Amino acid sequence: VSGVFLKKIKFSKEQKSEYLDDLFEFLRIPSITRDTEAVKKAAEWIYEYLEETADNIEIIYTKGNPVIIAEWKLDTRLSAKTKVPTILFYGHYDVQPPEPLEEWISPSFEPEIRNGRIYARGVGDNKGQLLANVLGILWVLREVKMGANVKFVFDGEEELGSPNLEDALTSRKEFFKDVDLIIVSDGPADPTWKPVLEFGARGIQTFQIHLQTAQGDVHSGNFGGIQPNPVWDVITLLKTMRDDNGYVTIDNYYRDTTPPSKTANEAARKLDRKPETYKEQLGISYFGGEQDLPLEDRLMFRPTLNIRGIKAGEVQENAKTMIPKEVIVEIDMRLVPHQTPQQMVEIILNHFEKLKQQSERYAQIIDRCKITFDASFHPVFTPMDLPWTSLLKEAITEGFNEEPLLIPMAGGSLPLYSLQKVTNNKPMYIIPYAQPDEDNHAPNENMMVDWFLKGIKTAIYIIEKIGTGSQKS
Ligand SMILES: [Zn+2]
Repeated sequence: VSGVFLKKIKFSKEQKSEYLDDLFEFLRIPSITRDTEAVKKAAEWIYEYLEETADNIEIIYTKGNPVIIAEWKLDTRLSAKTKVPTILFYGHYDVQPPEPLEEWISPSFEPEIRNGRIYARGVGDNKGQLLANVLGILWVLREVKMGANVKFVFDGEEELGSPNLEDALTSRKEFFKDVDLIIVSDGPADPTWKPVLEFGARGIQTFQIHLQTAQGDVHSGNFGGIQPNPVWDVITLLKTMRDDNGYVTIDNYYRDTTPPSKTANEAARKLDRKPETYKEQLGISYFGGEQDLPLEDRLMFRPTLNIRGIKAGEVQENAKTMIPKEVIVEIDMRLVPHQTPQQMVEIILNHFEKLKQQSERYAQIIDRCKITFDASFHPVFTPMDLPWTSLLKEAITEGFNEEPLLIPMAGGSLPLYSLQKVTNNKPMYIIPYAQPDEDNHAPNENMMVDWFLKGIKTAIYIIEKIGTGSQKS
């Protein structure tokens, strides 16, 4: 039942300024993830903001910051007659620290509009996007009758990787039982400024190799040729992990990956990413990664092995002619379906084990290495050919006045696996409302007023398209 009556949503001037007032109030709470008091205030703000309209709302206290769950039964008369779909929205209300403060044109927690953009820490990531979905729900509740249940998860620790989200959600398992699909609005839209509908996100597993070969830094003349240089030795190890064409040479590294479906492949080709655009945007003259694969595949369907940093010795103004005693290398691996963080840990450990068996030289180096594994997210993905796809596509097209790009897999990682897990693997869609230059995590983070309002409209259309038996109240 398509609700033609919603074709042209127009917000009045008063309505718009009311929306912005609410957003500004929310933005003024400096809910930096590690500032537990401020995050608690933001949680309470959400609770008070929704208490009156929600059929259910609860602040779940965790070992870290609270998670809030809320529910609206949009029309109980309609849902009494038939089973109506349940949409679960997810957003996070914690924000990144605003430093360096001196680079902000206006203070990070005093929102200000300049040139059609709202400037404040957390406006794009993720308070503005979160509130757009909330305001969409409240609009529907007030203006029309719609056969749908809407639920919401408000996460207070996303910027730390949501370490307590899974426990919180699992403790309220019943709440998620009837969820049919999950909508996440986070991250920026496409670099081409088109809205997007994303069907998944790569996972991640990081690790560190700490190689200490001696008790101290020594003179590179006096002991050169005797004291082992840990930088050379770690390079020896790194060279065993990847070939010169960008292919990972670790046994089983690609074992659990599955080639993209036909639909995903076609969608990837349609994106038609131009090498020249990337070269210009990134200031690069050649590409990294697996040299003979299409760019779209490398951005979405392939795991990566990235050296994110190496620390050893001194250079430039602190340069010394010495042999450093240690080196630290940190690596992140982006994972694709159906790789899991646990499997990748095993694969990496096996690699070092195998090297040790291979030669005495490798064994000497590896015996002095401390290898530790840190942050991880599972990859998440949703098949592209479910019936929700066309409905969501329509909703975004109406909300943004432009057809969205369909992106099989976002390059970045989101801590969303627990949402899929607690809902028994329900399809999840990522629909960002922030424009591509939102500068999230950076100074002068911003969200365009226009995109914020389009986000609210999109949320309304999502509920309309997914819901049943819509009618004028
Ligand atoms: Zn973020």
